[in-house]
Amino acid sequence: MNDERGDGGSSPKDANDANGNAEGEDRTVGGAASAARVRVAEVAKHYEGTEGPIRALEGVSFDVSDGEFVCLVGPSGCGKTTLFRIIAGLESATAGEVFLNDERVEGPTPDMGVVFQEYHLFPWRTVRGNVGFGLEKGGIDGEGGIDGEERRQRVDRLVELVGLEGFGDSYPKELSGGMKQRVAIARALAVDPDLLLMDEPFGAVDAQTREMLQSELLDIWRETGKTVLFVTHDVEEAVKLADRIVVMAKEPGRVRETIDVDLPRPRARSDAAFGRYYERVLGLIRGERGTPDV
Ligand code: ADP
Ligand code: MG
Repeated sequence: MNDERGDGGSSPKDANDANGNAEGEDRTVGGAASAARVRVAEVAKHYEGTEGPIRALEGVSFDVSDGEFVCLVGPSGCGKTTLFRIIAGLESATAGEVFLNDERVEGPTPDMGVVFQEYHLFPWRTVRGNVGFGLEKGGIDGEGGIDGEERRQRVDRLVELVGLEGFGDSYPKELSGGMKQRVAIARALAVDPDLLLMDEPFGAVDAQTREMLQSELLDIWRETGKTVLFVTHDVEEAVKLADRIVVMAKEPGRVRETIDVDLPRPRARSDAAFGRYYERVLGLIRGERGTPDV
């Protein structure tokens, strides 16, 4: 729909990475902690399994700075969704804490816009009705909300931002998967959250739609200046999108390494430097030792 908008301008955020990661050293903990929008501190999550406790997460720590686009990547079962739910305040941790803007996350908050893999739209509401849900009284935080013309304008702007002009009165069942996910993104942005938190949001759409949504998400990120924490198992997606990639490993779920992606956007898989990042992240996920620095 709006793929032509991926106009090649590299993000102003790219300049932030002047401190680079030239040695490829592990920046998992520490870094620009004071500027962190999100701080995940020593988070553990254990489940009772039939053969003893499952250590879904163990000692997970990392920061996400203001305006940064961070991808969390790792193999299936390494605890990505568990961590996503803990950060979103939908689940409690066995140990450790999550902070958003120095405040401890203790439950869902309108400061975060959350996008799930399954769209979770209200089937009985139109596109506009879904996008505007959190702006209604009794919406996301059960209070506040804006009415009338202001809400209508905000919703229209968001519908346009995600490229759904002309579909405002459609119902979810009339939309493709990619369009539903656009609605979910617009709904997440509606309350103007500080952080956009996404769990494999493009996992259920076809490859072509996924590419389009990826470039649209980058446009939205650039336009809104939101901080984004994006969970994926897809290494290519992570290298394409992220300022920084937090690579996870499993059993127990933990952070293996954090990698700065120092590439201008838009990024092409066919580019040699892209390929080197891709191989490095894949090597880390496969647990290979001594993967070369990029
Ligand atoms: P990912 O999203 O990376 O695929 P998950 O966070 O879904 O991983 O799962 C991590 C681990 O925790 C897996 O071993 C999974 O089986 C286990 N797990 C997740 N949720 C539960 C639960 N509610 N009860 C028991 N085990 C769970
Ligand atoms: Mg998952």
